[in-house]
Amino acid sequence: LGGSIARALQQMSNATIIDEKVLSECLNEISRALLQSDVQFKLVRDMQSNIKRIVNLDDLAAGHNKRRIIQQAVFNELCKMLDPGKPSFTPKKGKTSVVMFVGLQGSGKTTTCTKYAYYHQKKGWKPALVCADTFRAGAFDQLKQNATKTKIPYYGSYMESDPVKIAVEGVETFKKENRDLIIVDTSGRHKQEAALFEEMRQVSEATKPDLIIFVMDSSIGQAAFDQAQAFKQSVAVGAVIITKMDGHAKGGGALSAVAATKSPVIFIGTGEHMEEFEVFDVKPFVSRLLGMGDWSGFMDKIHEVVPTDQQPELLQKLSEGSFTLRLMYEQFQNILKMGPIGQVFSMLPGFSAELMPKGHEKESQAKIKRYMTMMDSMTNAELDSTNPKLMNDSRIMRIARGSGRSVRDVTEMLEEYKRLAKIWSKMKGLKIPKKGEMSAL
Ligand code: GDP
Ligand code: MG
Repeated sequence: LGGSIARALQQMSNATIIDEKVLSECLNEISRALLQSDVQFKLVRDMQSNIKRIVNLDDLAAGHNKRRIIQQAVFNELCKMLDPGKPSFTPKKGKTSVVMFVGLQGSGKTTTCTKYAYYHQKKGWKPALVCADTFRAGAFDQLKQNATKTKIPYYGSYMESDPVKIAVEGVETFKKENRDLIIVDTSGRHKQEAALFEEMRQVSEATKPDLIIFVMDSSIGQAAFDQAQAFKQSVAVGAVIITKMDGHAKGGGALSAVAATKSPVIFIGTGEHMEEFEVFDVKPFVSRLLGMGDWSGFMDKIHEVVPTDQQPELLQKLSEGSFTLRLMYEQFQNILKMGPIGQVFSMLPGFSAELMPKGHEKESQAKIKRYMTMMDSMTNAELDSTNPKLMNDSRIMRIARGSGRSVRDVTEMLEEYKRLAKIWSKMKGLKIPKKGEMSAL
């Protein structure tokens, strides 16, 4: 996909005159690629006509980089399509909220419920899980298992077959226990059946959720729009979570889900494990959709701001895909100095949304400093290792003692490292554009 968009833009930049015809051909090529990424046909067509309206070739003075302008216009249009214009209801810590999950069977509801609960628990919330799926045998066991692993209270029944009754009892129970995030997992069906929607409506009416989250599997292809719309028509969907983004799907269905539900995507699921869950970040997502990897403008930025003598080493490390704790330490140093590389890294999806959320710069800095103190107690071998198994309990204990932090703090730092290493590993085998050569889309 990235290839064909890159090719389209390349062809255009090779053309001596960029006229309507060249622009149209280029947009057609980009559109084909987006369709392959499961972006809905109608949305692609809208995007095309918007771009044609926005990019007025005649107005562009000679010397303007037209390829760049069109690339940026496509990027901006897709970002706009992912923004429904208003944020979703956001639960507040310490105040009771009920959040209900809906979606087809197998879309990842039960897994995502727990990820969502776990994500908030790590931030100091008191979540609880209610299993209102009485349709699938083993549904309660699955939720129980997830909840036990993450030490989150749960409610459900093997005997009761009425999902509404369980949902209400569960929500009531946890309200009494002053849980601040009560999550209701519901059942799904293989297809969008009337019975499923009726059940959802009843659970929703009985529990009066503050937020209904529609969970969608990224690999469902062009079916995304109709599916999302069907759910929205039955219950008041207020947010979307896209799952299985670790698979082959580029996730173009997300645009459809936003368009059909008029709700924002809030998280994405990137694996089967509890931690494989990320806050949704529009720009890196669109970059990925356009085949730019998660690295929008990253290469350009490297050439622009990293001192020339530091570039080869950094790029070499990037292409190897290996991310050591020492490399993390160095990047933290750069971020704290907000030096050039710091700026580059603060653009990365993992660094920006998770580690350094907007508006929490002070806390982020404190956290980075804390991590660095712990890393100061590590040996060279530990800092340079690419073997995640090296960090065993006794090493963790030694580092905790050495830095005056708790074992839990060290574990948290190492988890952060693993998360970043995973993002970094996606760069492996990347072809690095030479300086002066504009990195293609
Ligand atoms: P539900 O029927 O909607 O409750 O879906 P489940 O939560 O039971 O998930 C169905 C399957 O998808 C399970 O095997 C999950 O492990 C898997 N799954 C869920 N989310 C993700 C994800 O983000 N990535 C991957 N690779 N698998 C996922
Ligand atoms: Mg389930």
